[in-house]
Amino acid sequence: MGKMKNIKIRLGKVSVPLRVPFKTALRSVTGIEDVIVEIHTDTGAIGYGEAPPTGVITGDTTLSVIGAFKDHIEKVLIGRDVDDFEDLMLALNSCLRKNTSAKAAADMALWDLYGQLYRIPVYKLLGGSRNHITTDITISVNDPEEMALDSTDAVRRGYDCLKIKVGREPEKDIDRLKAIREAVGYDVKLRIDANQGWKPKEAVRILNRMEEGGLDIELVEQPVSAHDFEGLKYVTDHVGIPVLADESVFSPADALTILQMRAADLLNIKLMKCGGIYNALKIASAAEVYGVECMIGCMLESKLSVNAAVHLACAKQIITKVDLDGPVLCLTDPIIGGAVFNEKDITVSDDPGLGIKGITGIRYMDETGR
Ligand code: MG
Repeated sequence: MGKMKNIKIRLGKVSVPLRVPFKTALRSVTGIEDVIVEIHTDTGAIGYGEAPPTGVITGDTTLSVIGAFKDHIEKVLIGRDVDDFEDLMLALNSCLRKNTSAKAAADMALWDLYGQLYRIPVYKLLGGSRNHITTDITISVNDPEEMALDSTDAVRRGYDCLKIKVGREPEKDIDRLKAIREAVGYDVKLRIDANQGWKPKEAVRILNRMEEGGLDIELVEQPVSAHDFEGLKYVTDHVGIPVLADESVFSPADALTILQMRAADLLNIKLMKCGGIYNALKIASAAEVYGVECMIGCMLESKLSVNAAVHLACAKQIITKVDLDGPVLCLTDPIIGGAVFNEKDITVSDDPGLGIKGITGIRYMDETGR
């Protein structure tokens, strides 16, 4: 058995400007500012993780991530051997409630180390069904004309699947979709994300109008409030467009409830909602049992944590839809190593672990976040 002991955790910050502001029904953001986690070991190997403080979705903030590490996670991981992997995963998941982004950062750093210990890329460790995936790209909420321009620009960059943010003004949302469909034609897939922006009956009305209008929508993501499982089921039961649960699915238990209720047609797995690869695998397995396909998504994350999602997606065939556009929305890439992102084409790295070699411009922090 390999020996590799966790000796220290360092926390830092990385800032990456976005190419254009990211606007959804919930927020508007111009740059990524994420917490970086490094687990150092006695062999010199470093495991890397990242936690985006997406307060409006996960409830996680920069200081809550730091607190989760300093007061809880560090205590159960330091001094432990990476080879005690299952024990570490159970300890990580039971050392505090919620705080899923902090847990995801620790989880991916541990998978990174475990892969390095046994010299195998994580996607191979998980079953490795493919080494290449294709992502969509997000079009932010704006006026219809601007969204149509952003869409044709994305198609020119090679994207054949666009994720359109809607959900602020129902009537205008239909105009937005019409303008985009007219601009890009029918060879491009359009999926829409309402980010909880509609009420159940309102969602049914709008979605049915979109369908009758021939807008050819591939799927609709999270039409109603995250907690409203019955409302989500109401929409799923009353529209033809497939419904994908996103903010409603954090834990594997949430996923099971939605599967059992048949409240959605598809599930969106994000490492930052479920707390990392260990829990994401449980959601994927539950979905497999129910024959429900999954999307893999991300928050506004740099390549470091999106790279971990790439490994998961390359391993599991039940993940049929990929929404991992974080890195291509960024103006610069401070992450050395990991998957190669060439617009819509993502190729996973065959280096051991998650293949991250380092981060340029990382700013190490103390417990005050400075
Ligand atoms: Mg979403």
